[in-house]
Amino acid sequence: MTENNGRADIKSMLPGELSKVLSDMGEPAFRAKQVFKWLSSGVSSFDEMSNLPKSLRERLAERFYLTYPYVERKQVSASDGTVKYLWRLLDGNHVESVVMRYEHGNTVCVSSEVGCPMGCAFCASTIGGKVRNLSASEILDQVIFAQLDSGLHISNIVLMGIGEPLDNFDNVVRFLRLVNDPEGMNIGMRHISLSTCGLAEGIDKLAELDLQLTLSVSLHAPDNETRGRIMPVNRAYDVDTLLAACGRYFRRTGRRISYEYAMIRDVNDTPYHASLLADRLAGSGSHVNLIPLNEVPESRLRPSTPEAMRSFIGILEKRGINVTVRRKLGPDIEASCGQLRREREKN
Ligand code: SAH
Repeated sequence: MTENNGRADIKSMLPGELSKVLSDMGEPAFRAKQVFKWLSSGVSSFDEMSNLPKSLRERLAERFYLTYPYVERKQVSASDGTVKYLWRLLDGNHVESVVMRYEHGNTVCVSSEVGCPMGCAFCASTIGGKVRNLSASEILDQVIFAQLDSGLHISNIVLMGIGEPLDNFDNVVRFLRLVNDPEGMNIGMRHISLSTCGLAEGIDKLAELDLQLTLSVSLHAPDNETRGRIMPVNRAYDVDTLLAACGRYFRRTGRRISYEYAMIRDVNDTPYHASLLADRLAGSGSHVNLIPLNEVPESRLRPSTPEAMRSFIGILEKRGINVTVRRKLGPDIEASCGQLRREREKN
């Protein structure tokens, strides 16, 4: 766990760890629950924990620190109410989160790392590389503070912001346990999606935990030649290796995989790619989510034409593949992740 002047990150501690620490400090058993509740409520100092004795608040402040993000920038879409946050973390780094308002509930999209090491050719988050992992507390803070600041009750989470969640495996799993805790945010695993660029070993590790979350896999191409051109991760884990890990994940957890596919003009959007994709996914019961490419100024890749999209969808549907197209939210605020941080870091 990260340290700050020798103090530990209390919000990243699981309830069991918190109980142990407080009992070692000579506190009665009920304190851990009280402190855990405060940590999930968005306080920024121990002094605000008003039902704790003052002396305990002081002792906690000597041993621990509290993470909290500043709202560096906030944008609200006039067309659909999407709210986008650029947070400044305690060390001056920035990450983004987006609150999306769906009929089935408000969803927050959170970041898992400062920057990203994966190098996908179409993605704004990876342009400056990875700076560092986020702590479990810093991922949790995005949910807590987005809810507090926006006043929108959050019922769903997608780990689809900046960073590769499975590259920061331990902190992400810790975050999942914290946000899922009934005494904390109490968000059910079935209301959480985790998106990965395809770190097959991480998928196997996650399968072992048998969490009931939805795994989204950024496939973006059905063949190694195309995928290798746009996703360097394909050199480490090629399409066969990745799909084999996805199969094991499904068999272990019983949860069907959702595949993301960004439609890039003349790169991965031809009838050839659609047929091959259908071949690869036939019979898996998986779902394909097509994402019209968001243009990133630094990249020459362009979104597919509407005709190419239609024909691609037609081929998949004819082959019985379940396909949806991601709706673009917050068109007036550049709600896709990575772009605000990118702008900020340029200055
Ligand atoms: N690192 C994780 C999560 C990050 S992004 C992953 O790769 O899955 C969430 C999704 O947005 C991924 O499917 C990613 O490939 C996609 N994405 C990134 N940049 C995009 C862009 N410019 N247009 C459309 N989708 C993009």
